[in-house]
Amino acid sequence: MEEVRVRIAPSPSGNLHIGTARTALFNYLFAKKNNGKFVLRIEDTDAERTSQAYIDNIFDSLKALGLNWDEGPDVGGPYGPYTQSERFDIYPKYVQELLDKGFAYECFCTPEELEAEKEEATRNKKAYVYSKKCENLTDEQKAKLKAEGRKPAIRFNIKKAQKAFHDTSILKFDDLVKGELHVDTDLLGDFVILKSNGTPTYNFAVVIDDMLMKISHVIRGEDHISNTFKQILIFEALGAEVPKFGHLGMILAPDRSKLSKRHGATAVSEFVEKGYLTDALINFVALLGWSPSDGQEIKTVEEIAQDFRIGEISSSNSIFEYDKLNWMNSHYIKMLPMKELEKRLKPYLTKYDLSELTDAEYTRMVEITREPLTLLSDITDAVPYFFGEMVEVEPEVQTDVLDTEISQNVLKEFEKQAQNWEWTEENLHEKLEAFRGEFKEKGIKPKVTMWAVRAAVTGRTKGADMTAILAIIGKDKTLKRVKAAIK
Ligand code: GLU
Repeated sequence: MEEVRVRIAPSPSGNLHIGTARTALFNYLFAKKNNGKFVLRIEDTDAERTSQAYIDNIFDSLKALGLNWDEGPDVGGPYGPYTQSERFDIYPKYVQELLDKGFAYECFCTPEELEAEKEEATRNKKAYVYSKKCENLTDEQKAKLKAEGRKPAIRFNIKKAQKAFHDTSILKFDDLVKGELHVDTDLLGDFVILKSNGTPTYNFAVVIDDMLMKISHVIRGEDHISNTFKQILIFEALGAEVPKFGHLGMILAPDRSKLSKRHGATAVSEFVEKGYLTDALINFVALLGWSPSDGQEIKTVEEIAQDFRIGEISSSNSIFEYDKLNWMNSHYIKMLPMKELEKRLKPYLTKYDLSELTDAEYTRMVEITREPLTLLSDITDAVPYFFGEMVEVEPEVQTDVLDTEISQNVLKEFEKQAQNWEWTEENLHEKLEAFRGEFKEKGIKPKVTMWAVRAAVTGRTKGADMTAILAIIGKDKTLKRVKAAIK
């Protein structure tokens, strides 16, 4: 059996989109499953929309997701270069081949002439297809146009190719995901393969690259189906083997519209900045179209690769449920080893002076605050009271808790006793228990007693384990804050 070779071919006109990450993952899984090769190709023929920052973002995001490629611009490989802009000298030869075989022709139409054709189609309420006006120009006519200074674009001759390789105008292929797909090629216009400025168009460059890179399977979004028909005809016209194609359904937002910025993050790097773990992201996108045979959704990429079958990918669209991603992310945060979590939280704590805490105190702070984290970035608002001398008290906490007579009594007593406590977590645990006990005897619920202390020390009524908080904050700061809360 021929070697399985798949590719992801992003255009660097933006940061790596989460949908492209899914396409990359499914290609990667297919390669893994079949002992094949996963190739990264950068499709940067559109120089105006391309930027190095986007290329870097694509590399970094794929790597962060663990989708490492076997061949690509940075690692090289037997069929390089893997960046289209470095391949411009490769394409003319194949354009010439198509011209020689009669599957392509020079088109001298100006943008204005083409615009006029399009306007007429609109007026007649018809879908626009190129008129083929330049298909049969004589050599003299062409020479005259060139003498006028017109530079031709090259168009692919759909009908010629279709007739040469198929009995009817219907072109069909068996999609790995969607089953048989077909189109009436009479409805396709002769499209440009080489622009008059000499640059190849996407539909042409992609075929030459897939052919020369020996790509066996093309797995990509269903928005490319209409391109696939055109590409099949170019493969055939060049006498090349046609790869197998599989088209994935779209990823839609919960409101069933196209996933876009207004729904939330869309680029992998944006999700990461917001505090999503790449392990959670990749697990989540795998489930957009694929489901595990054992119903167990939390899985590593390696586990998914074992279970992955391309024929079982759903052919319909998937909904991007941010809530589910959040649930998954909180699960992955819970599973992170402490040391790893400590490291990963640091970028979200830059507004605090971490040198206020010893390493052991930092570890303890993370231990007691990690439980409710959905995003790594949630840590920012979970820990302000560990830093600085004093604390900001929420207005309702002031009126509803600190200003009450009960709280005032609790705090006065706390200040008196705590001055003499040995300030270790173990000892504080005992002391606080006794302290709550004393107030309980006076008819005050332990919960209410602790509210007062918590409100004075943290400015909040909810939060992490109070004994640990006091131990981390230290005796001095604790007493200062309690004093400040007493009227
Ligand atoms: N550069 C194309 C894109 O980003 C690749 C499509 C393909 O996989 O052929 O949409």
